[in-house]
Amino acid sequence: MVYKLLKDTKIYKSFTMLARKGNLPHAALLYSKDAYAAKNMLKLFACAVLCRFGKPCLECNDCRRVLGGTHPDCKTYPVKDKVLVGDIDKLIEDASFMPCEGSSKVYLINAGDTMNTDSQNKLLKTLEEPPEAVYIFICAANPENMLPTVKSRCAEMDLQPFTQQQITDFLSQSGSEGARAAAMSCGGLLGRAIEISSSGGYLSFYNFIYSLFKTLETKDDILICMEKINSFEDKNAALDIMQLYFRDCLMYKCGQNSLIFDKNSDGIKSAEFFRQKDIIRFIESAARAKRKLTLNCNAAPLFENIFIDILSARENYNGGAIVG
Ligand SMILES: [Zn+2]
Repeated sequence: MVYKLLKDTKIYKSFTMLARKGNLPHAALLYSKDAYAAKNMLKLFACAVLCRFGKPCLECNDCRRVLGGTHPDCKTYPVKDKVLVGDIDKLIEDASFMPCEGSSKVYLINAGDTMNTDSQNKLLKTLEEPPEAVYIFICAANPENMLPTVKSRCAEMDLQPFTQQQITDFLSQSGSEGARAAAMSCGGLLGRAIEISSSGGYLSFYNFIYSLFKTLETKDDILICMEKINSFEDKNAALDIMQLYFRDCLMYKCGQNSLIFDKNSDGIKSAEFFRQKDIIRFIESAARAKRKLTLNCNAAPLFENIFIDILSARENYNGGAIVG
């Protein structure tokens, strides 16, 4: 359950501490590239305000309705992907009314950095003089998109990426396959890890990459590999997995034990057919290909070059001229 993971963070602990002391800020700005985690953290913040037991307990009727999105005194914007000026108009109007049930109202703004300058300036007036009962919690992926005036009215917080172990444990509990693989390639972002691990194609593609050194024996195999690459949409993720695989193979060659994948698998053992310096070059090629993808280069030749390089390195090594 995501809330369990979020409750373990420093941010949650210090926020709920303030709530217990009656010192909660009326406006808070949470920075995180992990939209999924941030959105859920804002819900926990709302629970800290609205929970009838004040802990927050996450179990009472108030907490359950906040988490389920049905509490009448907790409203979330935007309704769609981006915050529109109309959303902020509604928020400001709604904030002028008394709470429906308790003594406080909470407004959660997801993707706050999608607010344009007009919206932020409108919101600023409410942030400067918030009605006594009103709390506004905002999350944003890009701090630089927030106006300095808005920032200065909010308590600013950074949600740190999660560790691989935390994400692996979380995904394993939710019954996801390939939890470790997803945890390795999600960059500490929980939302990304869930997306990766819930895509069926990902796991089979992951297994394909993790047997690349074994698969690539002849020129015909390059075609097979290119078909696989073409069928996998997220080329950037493909290069991420490739880097993980090459890194694992290098670790194996160096006799290290910190491999993601089973070191007895044929895909890893096939590292025997390559020199260390070749594998290091493959890692660098994958990194370079990633940079080229960001420049909108055509993906196919980038992958094909890596495959050709792997094949020729293998052939050279089989020649046995150089070792090490
Ligand atoms: Zn509660």
